[in-house]
Amino acid sequence: MKKIAIIGSTGSIGTQTLDVVSQHPGEFSVEGLAAGANADLFVEQVRRFRPKTASVATKEIADRVRPLIPAEVKLYYGEEGLVEVAAGTDAETVVTAIVGSAGLPATLAAISEGKHIALANKETLVTAGHLVTKLARQKGVSLLPVDSEHSAIFQCLNGERMEDLERLTLTASGGSFRDLTREQLRNVTVEDALKHPNWSMGAKITIDSATMVNKGLEVIEARWLFGVDFERIGVLLHPESIVHSFVEYRDGSVIAQMGTPDMRVPIQYALTYPQRWNSDTKRLSLAEVGQLHFREMDFVRFPCLRLAFECGKIGGTATSVYNAANEVAVARFLNREIPFLRIEHIIESVLSVHKVQADPSLEEIGEADRWARETARSL
Ligand code: NAD
Ligand code: MG
Repeated sequence: MKKIAIIGSTGSIGTQTLDVVSQHPGEFSVEGLAAGANADLFVEQVRRFRPKTASVATKEIADRVRPLIPAEVKLYYGEEGLVEVAAGTDAETVVTAIVGSAGLPATLAAISEGKHIALANKETLVTAGHLVTKLARQKGVSLLPVDSEHSAIFQCLNGERMEDLERLTLTASGGSFRDLTREQLRNVTVEDALKHPNWSMGAKITIDSATMVNKGLEVIEARWLFGVDFERIGVLLHPESIVHSFVEYRDGSVIAQMGTPDMRVPIQYALTYPQRWNSDTKRLSLAEVGQLHFREMDFVRFPCLRLAFECGKIGGTATSVYNAANEVAVARFLNREIPFLRIEHIIESVLSVHKVQADPSLEEIGEADRWARETARSL
């Protein structure tokens, strides 16, 4: 039995992880589940998967769900509850399916306890990649990518020597607005932005895909997961999301990983690595697909991607601030306070007044994150 815990169990990645668990009866034991505010789904999950430890966002929600779940389940709430579920159970692997840099303390706590991380929560690596990867090395734990592009690259690197690697290329679907001009982007609505052509995901990452911030976060995520510098990471537009990413070697060989877009495949691989288990995912028929398309990435059309590369190269707190400013800007857009194009303005404005701190400690990252959020709210 593989013992797992999930932080962010009621979201898109969380529910698909539990789908994978359900498809392999008797193979997984769910030791812990942490959710935010979706109390109904949380109760259903706890009744069905019987974790020993569980957590919700607030005391009020905890009081409400307590009588509805088995008495033996230890129920926590808030930040402390997240840490309990991430680090305080017998799980060997923790799936970080929470959204935003809010997942950082729990991820660090899980690593400190020697738990492997099936990493979906890319914001933790963007905000504190040097600390997360250093602690993982010290503790001898694996950071196994759940993100489809990173799972692809991880698979393409299997069995190869890193010194033979020339380049990594992340593919990008282009998000909801890939075919709109910047002029047309002025008046897009929240509803338009939430319609992703290929993937069904949480609201924040769907907006991030439309602004291309998601690909920016993924470039930084790739830098930390694979230890490759930014000059050797590329991004290519690929509307079909069939080629999930690829790597090039010094002999000119290119290895790509393909499949139909289904997050349950990379989630499952992160949980079963180095094994591959059965999956009922729709098989890829290249004959049926017929054609695949690729386009050069346009950094003028997608300035948030340019900014991500710039922040990544600067390093230090620059990426923490990029991420935090974006989290606030996206929340404000979803709240209908600002138009779509204001998201990139907010990120750029906050960065322009930030004094970057090199090699920051956890406290300094927390401080930069708070400052960036306040500044992004005030604009
Ligand atoms: P989501 O919004 O659907 O789910 C987020 C989950 O986290 C929910 O269960 C929510 O209740 C919980 N949560 C949020 N804030 C919390 C808090 N403060 N305390 C406790 N729980 C909290 O998001 P998602 O689309 O599943 O994405 C999760 C992460 O995975 C993100 O970092 C995203 O970038 C990454 N990711 C998602 C996909 C995808 O297909 N959805 C693909 C690749 C990577
Ligand atoms: Mg991705």
